Amino acid sequence: MTEWESVIGLEVHAQLLTRTKIFCGCATHFGAAPNTQVCPTCLGLPGALPALNADAVRLAMRAALALECELRETSRFARKNYFYPDLPKGYQISQFDEPLAEGGALEIEVQDVGEATPRTKRVRIQRVHMEEDAGKSVHGEGSDSRVDLNRAGVPLIEIVGEPDLRSAAEAGAYLRAMRDVLVFAGVNDGNLEEGSFRCDANVSIRPRGSTTLGTRVELKNINSFKFVEKAIAVEVRRQIDLTETGGRVTQETRGWDEARGETVAQRSKETAHDYRYFPDPDLPPLALSPALIAEVRARLPELPRAKRARFVSELSLTPYAAEVLTSHPRVAAFFEEAATLHGDPARVGNFVQAEVLRDVTTRGLTASLPVTAKQLVSLLSLVDDGTISGKQAKELYAAVRGTDRDPREVARELGLAQVTDAAALEQICRSVIDKNPKQFEQLKAGKAALYGFFVGQVMKETQGSANPKIVNDVLRRLLEEG
Ligand SMILES: [Zn+2]
Repeated sequence: MTEWESVIGLEVHAQLLTRTKIFCGCATHFGAAPNTQVCPTCLGLPGALPALNADAVRLAMRAALALECELRETSRFARKNYFYPDLPKGYQISQFDEPLAEGGALEIEVQDVGEATPRTKRVRIQRVHMEEDAGKSVHGEGSDSRVDLNRAGVPLIEIVGEPDLRSAAEAGAYLRAMRDVLVFAGVNDGNLEEGSFRCDANVSIRPRGSTTLGTRVELKNINSFKFVEKAIAVEVRRQIDLTETGGRVTQETRGWDEARGETVAQRSKETAHDYRYFPDPDLPPLALSPALIAEVRARLPELPRAKRARFVSELSLTPYAAEVLTSHPRVAAFFEEAATLHGDPARVGNFVQAEVLRDVTTRGLTASLPVTAKQLVSLLSLVDDGTISGKQAKELYAAVRGTDRDPREVARELGLAQVTDAAALEQICRSVIDKNPKQFEQLKAGKAALYGFFVGQVMKETQGSANPKIVNDVLRRLLEEG
C-alpha cells in the first residue's frame, strides 16, 4: 500500500485598507448600492487613464515586509487578458513577471491529529503582488443576472505561498496566521464574509518520500476558515481514492459544495490559462526608493507572534491567554492599556477573556470594545478594595458596558456593595445551618465536601454579595463551636 502525502499551496487575496480604489478616486466602502462607486476609469471607458494610489502601494509594501519578503526596487503592472462580464476593460491590471516582492516566509503554529503538542513551521512565500479586483456578478432568479462594479478596481494583494503545507490543519493554521499578520500590520480587515480576505488552494498528492509534484487541483474561493480545512481534507481523500482505484487526477478548478460535503468540478477547459500578459502601457514601472522602503519598514507595527511571545515573557500570561488576547489588534491594545493601568496583567486578562470578549466578535472586529480600559480598571479596583464581590463585578460590567459611565458611580446607584459585616453574615450562616441540620451534622462528622455546600447556600441567600473570605471565617468558627 502506498502511503500518500498531500501537497498544498495557498493563494490569498487580501483587500488593502484604502479609502479609494487602486487606479481612481472611487470609494471602496462595502455595502453601497450597486454601481454607485464607479467612474470612467474603473468602468473601463475609452480614454480613461489609471493613476496609481500611493496609499495602496504603502500598504502592499507593509504587507510584503511583514511577510519577510524582499521588495523589488522596480516592479511592473501587467494586463491579464480574459473576458468576463464583471471585467469591463477586458483585462485585469495585475503584476506578472516583475511582482512587488518575492521570497518571504510565514511562521505557523500547528497541531495535527495525533500530535501531542503544537509545532512551529516556516512556510515559504513565493511572491506578493498588487492587482485590482473585478466586479461582481449577481445572479437572480431564472436567467436574470446583473453586474455590480463597485468592487472593480478595489486594491488587492495576492500572496502566493509555496506548496509547503502537508495537511488540511497546516493550511488552516497558515490562513489564520496570514490573516493575523495582515490585520496586525493594518493592511487588511481580515473579513472573509465581506470578501476582503479570500483564498484559493492548490492541492495535489504524491507517494510519501517522492519529491515530484502530482497533478494539482485548484480549489477556488473558499470563504470560511472551517470550510478551507474541510474542503482540502475532502479533496485529498478524493484524489487518493481516485488514484488507488486506477483513476487519474485531472488538472482542473473545483469548488466546495458545503451542502453535499464534497468538491465539485467547475471548469476544466480553462486549465491551460493563456492570459497574454503584457506590461500595461498606461502605467510606468513602480520604483521604490530605499528611503521609502526604510520608512515603511520603520513604521511596521508589532506583529502577532512577537506580541504573543512578549505577553508570555513580560506579562507572564499563559500561551493560551496570550493567544486569545491577541485575537485582534484592538483587543490587544485594550488589554495592554488596562494591564498597565491596573498592574496585574493576569487578573485583567482573566476578566477580559471571561466577560469582555464574550460578546465581541474578534474576527473582523469593526466596532469598538464595550468598555474603555479606564472603566475596566476602575471596575476591577472596586473588587480589589473589597467594595464589591466578583459576582457583583459581572453585574456591574453588564450595567456599564456600552456607556461612558464611571463604574464606581453605577455601583453606588445599583446599590452594589459586598456584605462585609461579620455580624450580619453570622446571622445568615446560622439560619442556613438551622435549615440544614442533617448536612451540618455530616459536616461536623467529617464530610468535608459539604463545606462548599454551606458557602454556596450563604452566597445564594445574599445573592452573591457576601464577602467569601468573611463567610469562610464565620463558618469555620461556627463549625468549631459546634
Ligand atoms: Zn473609479
